[in-house]
Amino acid sequence: MTETILWLFAGVLIFAVLRAILGIVFKGISDFFGAGSARSVPRPGPRAAPRPVPEALKKDPVCGTFVAPSTALHKTVHGETYYFCSPECQNKFKG
Ligand SMILES: [Zn+2]
Repeated sequence: MTETILWLFAGVLIFAVLRAILGIVFKGISDFFGAGSARSVPRPGPRAAPRPVPEALKKDPVCGTFVAPSTALHKTVHGETYYFCSPECQNKFKG
């Protein structure tokens, strides 16, 4: 009877040791492969649409409003382009 308990105990001990060893081994393997694949991972998934580059806003020199150059009115004076929120600002601007 005592022997059975001893064997049971030994079995649990062996199982625990094996599990620990396997854990270390598998952790090492997954770290190895994980590190290898992590280098090539930062790739956007198929669902991630290409993010548009945020447009730098330009300041309307007349009223101080920030406008998107792609949609704003503009005037080029001495090679420098100024952006305006409205035709009024564009007309008020003395370049
Ligand atoms: Zn303006």
